[in-house]
Amino acid sequence: MSTKSQQLIDLDLARGAHNYRPIDVVLHRAKGIHLWDVAGRRYTDMMSAYSTASLGHSHPKVLKALARQARQLDVTSRAFYNDQLPPWLDQLTALAGMDKALPMNTGAEAVETALKLARKWGETVKGIPRDRVEIIGCEGNFHGRTLALVSLSTEAQYRENFGPYLPGFKTVAFGDIDALAQAITPRTAAFIVEPIQGEAGIRLPPPGYLKRARELCRQHRVLFVVDEIQCGLSRTGRLFCFQHNDLDPDLLILGKALGGGVYPVSAVVGSAEVLGVLRPGDHGSTFGGNAIAAAVSRTALTLLSEPEFIDRVARLGDWALAHLKDALGQSPIVRDIRGQGLMMGIEVAPEVGARGLVDALKERGVLTKDTHEVVIRLAPPLIIRKKQLRRALDTVIDVVLSAAPPR
Ligand SMILES: *Cc1c(COP(=O)(O)O)cnc(C)c1O
Repeated sequence: MSTKSQQLIDLDLARGAHNYRPIDVVLHRAKGIHLWDVAGRRYTDMMSAYSTASLGHSHPKVLKALARQARQLDVTSRAFYNDQLPPWLDQLTALAGMDKALPMNTGAEAVETALKLARKWGETVKGIPRDRVEIIGCEGNFHGRTLALVSLSTEAQYRENFGPYLPGFKTVAFGDIDALAQAITPRTAAFIVEPIQGEAGIRLPPPGYLKRARELCRQHRVLFVVDEIQCGLSRTGRLFCFQHNDLDPDLLILGKALGGGVYPVSAVVGSAEVLGVLRPGDHGSTFGGNAIAAAVSRTALTLLSEPEFIDRVARLGDWALAHLKDALGQSPIVRDIRGQGLMMGIEVAPEVGARGLVDALKERGVLTKDTHEVVIRLAPPLIIRKKQLRRALDTVIDVVLSAAPPR
């Protein structure tokens, strides 16, 4: 590593809180699918900032919208209307086939918003007694890092020493429909689920699970809430991941790629019945829905929702998964290869672990991150060309095949 990199890392460690353990690379520049470190070394981005950079880095149309809007009208708060937010609301709700949307900034804020909506809907529409509303989540979920969301989490490290936890949450095994059926009570307002669990290690539910969960929620008048912050917006080869299963969620939560890779934009989209429970003053955000966010996100939505763009992701994803399975299916260190679209994971034996492999990948010019100790996450920008993807995957295959087998 260059001296400059080491100095910056040391400064980060000395002056920053250690709430992350990054890969040892200090980035300086990005364009498209590529990242460059401070020494000028080029890497292929195989993680896209957890799906944020789906359009690649510094997409020219996104940058143009950002610069133009920043000069024109910036942040004015929701004390006033602006001319960018209404068309964004219209575009987003039309794409989702839903009535209304509510803009926030980060994913965690949008999930919090959905939970507040569910609670208020539960009390005022469903008629659950005050302060008795329950919300059901899934084991292994990742919805963000706020106090409410760590209360909903089942991950020991996300929770430890952050109590006391917020009451009113229950969790059931992801993929277990009977567990969900048993957990629902007359006081249940909502069930929140990631159609693909990203942070848990790119976990897909069993076929039919989401559809049956949706039906169960309908039967019991429980809101079916999907967190598509990571898997949404064409990442899996459909504009929304719920479309694979032909679902009609009550609330859809988006973030990450919604900001075009350059600006924090998140949203809750849903029915007039649910979003209609909010009255002026009930909820808000100073930055949420500002003119820059809306202009940038409109451009991102336009690009991400092009049918040919989405079809290409689906085809590329099918090819990539088959290619990985062909090459690594027999490897003694590989436990599973899974994914949908360009959201894939390779699970390796715990004795090997993923961290050493992603460190080795960095040395070979491919950047990604391990998740849950044993999964190598593979999620390139959706604009990646097949040749580029093949080269990156072949590097991954090579690194995995040359890793020491478990004893
Ligand atoms: C990243 C993520 C969040 C949280 O988003 P932030 O912008 O980091 O607050 C919530 N849910 C899912 C599924 C995510 O991947």
